[in-house]
Amino acid sequence: MRIGFIGLGIMGKPMAKNLLKAGYDLLVYDINKDAVKEVVGAGAKEAANVGEIGEKCELIMTMLPDSPQVKEVVLGGGGLIETVREGAILIDMSSINPVASKEISAEFEKKGAKMLDAPVSGGEPKAIDGTLAFMVGGPQDVFDKCKPILEAMGSSVVRCGDIGAGNTTKLANQIIVAVNIAALSEALMLAEKAGVEPQLVFEAIRGGLAGSTVMDAKAPMIIGGNFKPGFKIDLHIKDLNNALSAGHSVGSPLPLTAQVMEMLQILRLDGCGQDDHSAIAKYYEKLANTKIGRE
Ligand code: NAD
Repeated sequence: MRIGFIGLGIMGKPMAKNLLKAGYDLLVYDINKDAVKEVVGAGAKEAANVGEIGEKCELIMTMLPDSPQVKEVVLGGGGLIETVREGAILIDMSSINPVASKEISAEFEKKGAKMLDAPVSGGEPKAIDGTLAFMVGGPQDVFDKCKPILEAMGSSVVRCGDIGAGNTTKLANQIIVAVNIAALSEALMLAEKAGVEPQLVFEAIRGGLAGSTVMDAKAPMIIGGNFKPGFKIDLHIKDLNNALSAGHSVGSPLPLTAQVMEMLQILRLDGCGQDDHSAIAKYYEKLANTKIGRE
Protein backbone atom coordinates (compact mmCIF):
# COMPACT_ATOMS: atom_id res chain seq x y z
CA MET A 1 0.00 0.00 0.00
CA ARG A 2 1.29 3.50 -0.81
CA ILE A 3 1.16 5.88 2.16
CA GLY A 4 1.56 9.64 1.88
CA PHE A 5 3.45 11.15 4.83
CA ILE A 6 3.61 14.90 5.49
CA GLY A 7 5.72 16.37 8.33
CA LEU A 8 9.16 14.85 8.86
CA GLY A 9 10.27 16.58 12.07
CA ILE A 10 11.60 15.18 15.35
CA MET A 11 8.70 12.72 15.49
CA GLY A 12 7.63 12.29 11.85
CA LYS A 13 11.07 11.30 10.56
CA PRO A 14 11.58 8.21 12.76
CA MET A 15 7.90 7.27 12.40
CA ALA A 16 8.19 7.37 8.59
CA LYS A 17 11.36 5.26 8.79
CA ASN A 18 9.53 2.63 10.85
CA LEU A 19 6.79 2.44 8.19
CA LEU A 20 9.50 1.90 5.55
CA LYS A 21 11.05 -0.86 7.69
CA ALA A 22 7.62 -2.53 7.91
CA GLY A 23 7.54 -2.65 4.09
CA TYR A 24 5.16 0.22 3.24
CA ASP A 25 5.72 2.30 0.13
CA LEU A 26 6.00 5.98 1.21
CA LEU A 27 5.52 9.23 -0.71
CA VAL A 28 6.76 12.04 1.55
CA TYR A 29 6.63 15.83 1.79
CA ASP A 30 7.99 18.49 4.14
CA ILE A 31 8.94 22.13 3.65
CA ASN A 32 12.32 21.17 5.19
CA LYS A 33 14.19 19.60 2.27
CA ASP A 34 17.00 18.17 4.47
CA ALA A 35 14.43 16.09 6.35
CA VAL A 36 12.95 14.88 3.04
CA LYS A 37 16.42 13.92 1.77
CA GLU A 38 17.08 11.82 4.87
CA VAL A 39 13.82 9.86 4.58
CA VAL A 40 14.26 9.44 0.81
CA GLY A 41 17.71 8.02 1.66
CA ALA A 42 15.92 5.41 3.78
CA GLY A 43 13.73 4.34 0.83
CA ALA A 44 10.82 6.82 0.49
CA LYS A 45 9.87 8.74 -2.66
CA GLU A 46 9.64 12.53 -2.64
CA ALA A 47 6.40 14.30 -3.59
CA ALA A 48 6.70 17.62 -5.43
CA ASN A 49 3.90 19.07 -3.31
CA VAL A 50 0.99 18.22 -1.01
CA GLY A 51 -1.36 17.95 -4.00
CA GLU A 52 0.64 15.06 -5.46
CA ILE A 53 0.18 13.13 -2.20
CA GLY A 54 -3.60 13.69 -2.32
CA GLU A 55 -3.66 12.55 -5.94
CA LYS A 56 -1.60 9.37 -5.51
CA CYS A 57 -2.25 8.01 -1.99
CA GLU A 58 -5.24 6.22 -0.53
CA LEU A 59 -3.83 6.63 2.99
CA ILE A 60 -2.27 9.92 4.10
CA MET A 61 -0.54 10.67 7.40
CA THR A 62 0.32 14.09 8.81
CA MET A 63 2.70 14.87 11.72
CA LEU A 64 2.76 18.66 11.92
CA PRO A 65 3.27 21.16 14.78
CA ASP A 66 -0.26 22.48 15.51
CA SER A 67 -3.78 23.19 14.22
CA PRO A 68 -2.83 26.09 11.83
CA GLN A 69 -0.26 23.93 10.00
CA VAL A 70 -2.64 20.96 9.72
CA LYS A 71 -5.41 23.25 8.44
CA GLU A 72 -3.03 24.81 5.92
CA VAL A 73 -1.83 21.46 4.59
CA VAL A 74 -5.30 19.89 4.44
CA LEU A 75 -7.71 22.76 3.72
CA GLY A 76 -5.45 25.60 2.44
CA GLY A 77 -4.71 26.61 -1.16
CA GLY A 78 -2.98 23.66 -2.86
CA GLY A 79 -3.97 21.51 0.15
CA LEU A 80 -4.99 17.85 0.24
CA ILE A 81 -8.67 18.77 -0.05
CA GLU A 82 -8.12 19.82 -3.68
CA THR A 83 -6.81 16.47 -4.90
CA VAL A 84 -7.85 13.84 -2.33
CA ARG A 85 -9.46 10.69 -3.77
CA GLU A 86 -12.91 9.48 -2.83
CA GLY A 87 -12.51 6.74 -0.20
CA ALA A 88 -9.09 8.00 0.97
CA ILE A 89 -8.19 8.08 4.67
CA LEU A 90 -6.29 10.85 6.49
CA ILE A 91 -4.63 9.99 9.80
CA ASP A 92 -3.54 13.19 11.53
CA MET A 93 -1.03 12.25 14.24
CA SER A 94 -0.22 15.86 15.25
CA SER A 95 -1.31 17.08 18.71
CA ILE A 96 -3.89 19.73 17.82
CA ASN A 97 -7.13 21.25 19.09
CA PRO A 98 -9.88 18.57 18.90
CA VAL A 99 -12.27 21.24 17.60
CA ALA A 100 -9.92 21.67 14.60
CA SER A 101 -9.86 17.87 14.07
CA LYS A 102 -13.66 17.90 13.80
CA GLU A 103 -13.65 20.85 11.38
CA ILE A 104 -11.05 19.23 9.13
CA SER A 105 -12.87 15.88 9.18
CA ALA A 106 -16.17 17.52 8.22
CA GLU A 107 -14.56 19.17 5.17
CA PHE A 108 -12.82 15.93 4.21
CA GLU A 109 -16.09 13.99 4.38
CA LYS A 110 -17.59 16.32 1.75
CA LYS A 111 -15.02 14.78 -0.63
CA GLY A 112 -16.00 11.24 0.33
CA ALA A 113 -12.81 10.82 2.39
CA LYS A 114 -12.46 9.78 6.06
CA MET A 115 -10.24 10.93 8.92
CA LEU A 116 -8.80 9.70 12.21
CA ASP A 117 -7.12 11.95 14.77
CA ALA A 118 -4.31 9.90 16.28
CA PRO A 119 -1.89 11.93 18.45
CA VAL A 120 0.90 10.11 20.25
CA SER A 121 2.62 10.02 23.58
CA GLY A 122 6.20 8.87 24.10
CA GLY A 123 8.50 11.44 22.50
CA GLU A 124 11.44 10.96 20.15
CA PRO A 125 12.97 7.83 21.82
CA LYS A 126 9.71 5.90 21.47
CA ALA A 127 9.19 7.25 17.95
CA ILE A 128 12.61 5.80 17.07
CA ASP A 129 12.06 2.37 18.62
CA GLY A 130 8.45 2.15 17.40
CA THR A 131 6.80 1.99 20.83
CA LEU A 132 4.63 5.12 20.78
CA ALA A 133 1.17 5.16 22.40
CA PHE A 134 -1.57 6.22 19.96
CA MET A 135 -4.84 7.80 21.18
CA VAL A 136 -7.29 7.60 18.32
CA GLY A 137 -10.61 9.21 17.40
CA GLY A 138 -12.79 8.37 14.40
CA PRO A 139 -15.12 5.73 12.95
CA GLN A 140 -14.62 2.16 14.24
CA ASP A 141 -14.35 0.62 10.74
CA VAL A 142 -11.66 3.12 9.69
CA PHE A 143 -9.82 2.50 12.97
CA ASP A 144 -9.93 -1.29 12.46
CA LYS A 145 -8.48 -0.90 8.97
CA CYS A 146 -5.67 1.44 10.10
CA LYS A 147 -4.71 -0.17 13.45
CA PRO A 148 -2.14 -2.61 11.98
CA ILE A 149 -0.40 0.28 10.19
CA LEU A 150 -0.21 2.36 13.38
CA GLU A 151 1.21 -0.71 15.14
CA ALA A 152 4.27 -0.40 12.88
CA MET A 153 5.04 2.80 14.85
CA GLY A 154 3.57 2.12 18.27
CA SER A 155 3.07 -0.53 20.94
CA SER A 156 -0.30 0.77 22.13
CA VAL A 157 -3.12 1.85 19.80
CA VAL A 158 -6.41 2.68 21.58
CA ARG A 159 -9.59 4.08 20.01
CA CYS A 160 -11.05 6.61 22.47
CA GLY A 161 -14.22 7.57 20.55
CA ASP A 162 -15.35 9.59 17.55
CA ILE A 163 -13.26 12.17 15.68
CA GLY A 164 -11.57 14.59 18.12
CA ALA A 165 -11.46 11.99 20.92
CA GLY A 166 -7.78 11.25 20.25
CA ASN A 167 -6.79 14.88 20.72
CA THR A 168 -9.10 15.30 23.73
CA THR A 169 -7.31 12.34 25.32
CA LYS A 170 -3.92 13.88 24.48
CA LEU A 171 -4.99 17.18 26.10
CA ALA A 172 -6.08 15.27 29.23
CA ASN A 173 -2.62 13.68 29.27
CA GLN A 174 -0.90 17.06 28.90
CA ILE A 175 -2.99 18.67 31.67
CA ILE A 176 -2.09 15.87 34.10
CA VAL A 177 1.61 16.05 33.23
CA ALA A 178 1.83 19.87 33.55
CA VAL A 179 -0.09 20.11 36.83
CA ASN A 180 1.86 17.14 38.19
CA ILE A 181 5.23 18.82 37.46
CA ALA A 182 4.01 22.04 39.11
CA ALA A 183 2.86 20.14 42.24
CA LEU A 184 6.17 18.27 42.36
CA SER A 185 8.14 21.54 42.10
CA GLU A 186 6.04 23.18 44.83
CA ALA A 187 6.47 20.19 47.16
CA LEU A 188 10.23 19.86 46.61
CA MET A 189 10.68 23.59 47.26
CA LEU A 190 8.80 23.22 50.55
CA ALA A 191 11.22 20.43 51.53
CA GLU A 192 14.24 22.52 50.50
CA LYS A 193 13.12 25.59 52.47
CA ALA A 194 12.23 23.45 55.51
CA GLY A 195 15.72 21.98 55.52
CA VAL A 196 14.78 18.44 54.40
CA GLU A 197 16.83 17.06 51.51
CA PRO A 198 14.64 16.94 48.33
CA GLN A 199 16.40 13.76 47.15
CA LEU A 200 15.40 11.96 50.38
CA VAL A 201 11.83 13.27 50.11
CA PHE A 202 11.68 11.85 46.57
CA GLU A 203 13.05 8.47 47.69
CA ALA A 204 10.64 8.31 50.65
CA ILE A 205 7.45 9.12 48.73
CA ARG A 206 7.97 7.74 45.23
CA GLY A 207 6.59 4.27 46.16
CA GLY A 208 3.47 5.72 47.84
CA LEU A 209 0.26 7.31 46.57
CA ALA A 210 2.03 10.48 45.42
CA GLY A 211 4.46 8.53 43.26
CA SER A 212 4.04 8.70 39.48
CA THR A 213 5.79 8.21 36.15
CA VAL A 214 6.09 12.01 36.03
CA MET A 215 7.75 12.06 39.47
CA ASP A 216 10.21 9.31 38.51
CA ALA A 217 11.17 11.09 35.27
CA LYS A 218 11.21 14.69 36.47
CA ALA A 219 12.30 14.75 40.16
CA PRO A 220 15.89 13.71 39.30
CA MET A 221 16.02 16.42 36.61
CA ILE A 222 14.73 19.11 38.99
CA ILE A 223 17.05 18.09 41.82
CA GLY A 224 20.02 17.85 39.43
CA GLY A 225 19.20 21.18 37.74
CA ASN A 226 19.13 19.40 34.36
CA PHE A 227 16.52 21.02 32.14
CA LYS A 228 17.70 19.65 28.77
CA PRO A 229 14.61 18.68 26.68
CA GLY A 230 12.79 16.17 26.51
CA PHE A 231 9.57 17.96 25.96
CA LYS A 232 9.95 21.71 25.60
CA ILE A 233 8.10 24.44 27.56
CA ASP A 234 7.10 26.02 24.18
CA LEU A 235 5.39 22.79 23.06
CA HIS A 236 3.59 22.44 26.38
CA ILE A 237 2.34 26.04 26.03
CA LYS A 238 0.88 25.01 22.66
CA ASP A 239 -0.89 22.01 24.24
CA LEU A 240 -2.27 23.94 27.24
CA ASN A 241 -3.45 26.67 24.86
CA ASN A 242 -5.39 23.99 22.97
CA ALA A 243 -6.67 22.54 26.28
CA LEU A 244 -7.93 25.94 27.47
CA SER A 245 -9.52 26.68 24.11
CA ALA A 246 -11.19 23.23 23.96
CA GLY A 247 -12.28 23.59 27.61
CA HIS A 248 -13.89 26.96 26.91
CA SER A 249 -15.68 25.66 23.83
CA VAL A 250 -17.19 22.64 25.63
CA GLY A 251 -17.88 24.47 28.94
CA SER A 252 -15.32 22.66 31.10
CA PRO A 253 -13.48 25.05 33.49
CA LEU A 254 -9.72 24.39 33.78
CA PRO A 255 -8.51 26.55 36.71
CA LEU A 256 -5.36 24.51 37.44
CA THR A 257 -4.40 24.38 33.76
CA ALA A 258 -4.81 28.17 33.54
CA GLN A 259 -2.53 28.66 36.53
CA VAL A 260 0.24 26.41 35.19
CA MET A 261 -0.15 28.11 31.79
CA GLU A 262 0.75 31.45 33.43
CA MET A 263 3.84 29.83 34.99
CA LEU A 264 4.87 28.62 31.53
CA GLN A 265 4.28 32.08 30.05
CA ILE A 266 6.55 33.65 32.69
CA LEU A 267 9.22 31.01 32.01
CA ARG A 268 9.04 31.72 28.27
CA LEU A 269 9.51 35.46 28.98
CA ASP A 270 12.55 34.49 31.07
CA GLY A 271 14.06 32.74 28.01
CA CYS A 272 13.26 29.16 29.10
CA GLY A 273 10.93 28.23 26.19
CA GLN A 274 13.40 25.68 24.87
CA ASP A 275 14.00 24.08 28.30
CA ASP A 276 12.39 20.79 29.31
CA HIS A 277 8.98 21.25 30.98
CA SER A 278 10.60 20.13 34.27
CA ALA A 279 11.90 23.73 34.28
CA ILE A 280 8.54 24.66 35.85
CA ALA A 281 10.72 24.21 38.97
CA LYS A 282 12.65 27.32 37.90
CA TYR A 283 9.47 29.38 38.41
CA TYR A 284 9.42 28.27 42.06
CA GLU A 285 13.17 28.78 42.38
CA LYS A 286 12.74 32.39 41.27
CA LEU A 287 9.82 33.00 43.68
CA ALA A 288 11.70 31.54 46.65
CA ASN A 289 15.14 32.72 45.53
CA THR A 290 16.39 29.20 46.32
CA LYS A 291 17.54 26.25 44.17
CA ILE A 292 15.90 22.87 44.79
CA GLY A 293 18.49 20.30 45.90
CA ARG A 294 21.44 22.48 44.88
CA GLU A 295 21.91 25.01 47.70
P1 NAD B 1 8.74 19.35 14.57
O1 NAD B 1 8.61 20.83 14.62
O2 NAD B 1 10.08 18.73 14.82
O3 NAD B 1 8.22 18.79 13.14
C1 NAD B 1 7.20 19.37 12.39
C2 NAD B 1 7.55 19.20 10.91
O4 NAD B 1 6.47 19.74 10.15
C3 NAD B 1 8.82 19.95 10.51
O5 NAD B 1 9.69 19.09 9.80
C4 NAD B 1 8.29 21.07 9.60
O6 NAD B 1 9.20 21.44 8.58
C5 NAD B 1 7.04 20.44 9.05
N1 NAD B 1 6.07 21.42 8.57
C6 NAD B 1 5.60 22.53 9.21
N2 NAD B 1 4.71 23.16 8.44
C7 NAD B 1 4.62 22.46 7.28
C8 NAD B 1 3.87 22.62 6.09
N3 NAD B 1 3.03 23.66 5.94
N4 NAD B 1 4.02 21.70 5.10
C9 NAD B 1 4.85 20.65 5.25
N5 NAD B 1 5.60 20.44 6.35
C10 NAD B 1 5.49 21.34 7.36
O7 NAD B 1 7.64 18.78 15.59
P2 NAD B 1 7.62 17.33 16.29
O8 NAD B 1 8.37 17.40 17.59
O9 NAD B 1 7.93 16.30 15.29
O10 NAD B 1 6.08 17.27 16.72
C11 NAD B 1 5.04 17.00 15.79
C12 NAD B 1 3.74 16.86 16.59
O11 NAD B 1 3.85 15.79 17.52
C13 NAD B 1 3.39 18.12 17.43
O12 NAD B 1 2.01 18.33 17.37
C14 NAD B 1 3.87 17.75 18.82
O13 NAD B 1 3.16 18.43 19.86
C15 NAD B 1 3.59 16.26 18.83
N6 NAD B 1 4.40 15.49 19.79
C16 NAD B 1 5.73 15.77 19.94
C17 NAD B 1 6.48 15.05 20.86
C18 NAD B 1 7.96 15.36 21.08
O14 NAD B 1 8.52 14.89 22.09
N7 NAD B 1 8.61 16.08 20.18
C19 NAD B 1 5.89 14.02 21.62
C20 NAD B 1 4.53 13.72 21.40
C21 NAD B 1 3.81 14.47 20.49
